[in-house]
Amino acid sequence: MTSNVKHYWIIILLIFVISCTNKNNSSDNNETTITEISSDNKLEPIAEKVDTIIIDSDMTFEEAVKNTKAPKTVIDQLVLIDVQYLSTDNRTHKGQILTNKKLEEDVRHIFKFMLDSGFVIDKAIPVVQYNWSDSLSMADNNTYSFCYRNVSYSKHAHGMAIDINPRFNPLRWKKENCPNQPEGAVLDTTINGTLHIEHIVVKEFKKMGYKWGHQFSRYYDDHHFEK
Ligand SMILES: [Zn+2]
Repeated sequence: MTSNVKHYWIIILLIFVISCTNKNNSSDNNETTITEISSDNKLEPIAEKVDTIIIDSDMTFEEAVKNTKAPKTVIDQLVLIDVQYLSTDNRTHKGQILTNKKLEEDVRHIFKFMLDSGFVIDKAIPVVQYNWSDSLSMADNNTYSFCYRNVSYSKHAHGMAIDINPRFNPLRWKKENCPNQPEGAVLDTTINGTLHIEHIVVKEFKKMGYKWGHQFSRYYDDHHFEK
């Protein structure tokens, strides 16, 4: 081999070595990228947790009407509806409303309206969870429709009324010196979830043809809407 040919081979060898080194570098880069992606993936469960809907109620229809004193003719009029709402913890919750089939579309509409407008519903759980005691349900600020009680006059007995956040919107007597219901609850319209005459949720209920308990003769039943 001449000296020139030797140089030629040395240069070829150098090019080969350099190109291999570059390949290694580029594969190192790829590894770095993969590591970054996988560390991003590790963050995902945290983001998911923030978006997760909190389940307040997830009953079957049979569970929701269990041990009710209502006759079959009344039970046959009912439907159990899944609803979503913004709760007092500023997170989206899923609850359920057991109501009359005639109100199904209204209930779906008003819950979407309340969620879209950022109106808070503390919780919505069928009253069976409170052993069919509407007093316990009201004291717990629970939004509900069907409860088989005061059958002669209450629209709740057929699921034709709905109570919205009873503790935020207590029943207040107009003349009689009786305690608010639920007892100890005080009206404060600055709290999200509280209704008043000009409130858009009240106006939306009225638009759908509901009578608001605020207009009852003996008391302001501010949480109550009926058809
Ligand atoms: Zn009511």
